[in-house]
Amino acid sequence: MSRVALVTGGTRGIGAAISIALKNAGYKVAANFAGNEEKARAFEAETGIPVFKWDVSSYQACVDGIAAVEAALGPVEVLVNNAGITRDAMFHKMTPDQWNEVINTNLTGLFNMTHPVWTGMRDRSFGRVINISSINGQKGQMGQANYSAAKAGDLGFTKSLAQEGAAKGITVNAICPGYIGTEMVRAIPEKVLNERIIPQIPVGRLGEPEEIARCVVFLASDDAGFITGSTISANGGQFFV
Ligand code: NDP
Repeated sequence: MSRVALVTGGTRGIGAAISIALKNAGYKVAANFAGNEEKARAFEAETGIPVFKWDVSSYQACVDGIAAVEAALGPVEVLVNNAGITRDAMFHKMTPDQWNEVINTNLTGLFNMTHPVWTGMRDRSFGRVINISSINGQKGQMGQANYSAAKAGDLGFTKSLAQEGAAKGITVNAICPGYIGTEMVRAIPEKVLNERIIPQIPVGRLGEPEEIARCVVFLASDDAGFITGSTISANGGQFFV
């Protein structure tokens, strides 16, 4: 029987690669997105993966969205918390809105998404929660106090829930990507990418979304049942914890 996997922000970038990799591994996949309807519909048409629109920063929207996914596909057994945004600014210029939007999406979004599926996972004695954090949550990053705080919070959330889920067959892990060649990173001026960012990556290139997706497929599998509370750093050697 194929398991049901739900990927937030699963229609673009790293999330799209995760959705496709899970589908190819035999999962019934649902991909959530926030508002980029055109990209999402094109993704759905191209891959056959159903897409569902809601904002992970709203608890009620998550409850309703998950109910719609479960009505269509069945209970969510694998949850990939991938949706994320940046609102970069040096701290002295950062607005409360920039802080709140990032915390509400990148950190509170994990509560909003995981809480509604948690009881079902406990009841069925199986679950996989995989949180996409970031290298910048591990090391901090100038201009990203909001993002780094949220992503570091994701790691604390991961380790705590791992302890709560362990006896119930639920594993909770995090992946910390380094720089991956998605729209989020391609938005950085090419000169900055080539002269300042890529030279800091020992393997000498950006990562590919599929390289993160393969980590997710492994963590979702039965083979990874003894791995919980872990963080996989996938950053081309840029930072060691
Ligand atoms: P993209 O900007 O390419 O895609 C983001 C996805 O998240 C989109 O599908 C978007 O939906 C969705 N999304 C954004 N906000 C919300 C929301 N409030 N509710 C629901 N969905 C939302 O991002 P990446 O693929 O680059 O990043 C994916 C994850 O990986 C993020 O958590 C990011 O922080 C993390 N990461 C990325 C790195 C990188 O180098 N790219 C490095 C380290 C971590 P829509 O299309 O509708 O806007």
